[in-house]
Amino acid sequence: MVRQSFLPRWMHRLYARFFGYFWLPCPICGRCFGGHEGVHLLYLNASTGQMVCRACRDEADRKNRKNRFIRGNLRWIGSGMRIR
Ligand SMILES: [Zn+2]
Repeated sequence: MVRQSFLPRWMHRLYARFFGYFWLPCPICGRCFGGHEGVHLLYLNASTGQMVCRACRDEADRKNRKNRFIRGNLRWIGSGMRIR
């Protein structure tokens, strides 16, 4: 299994809480991750995606290719965060 990062999870959780990032379970593996840990998206449809943790980036890419979703302007629902 790919590590999410070199820092322990509790440090990421503190960072996310302290700086106002979300802390939510990854839609693929279910492990919690923070909004500061990069932008890797699992597309729900052509215009909407859901952030996944770093460890699931490749899996998200594979699913996106399978579903023929390409990178574009996205709006991530759930946190009010917009990605262009
Ligand atoms: Zn994950």
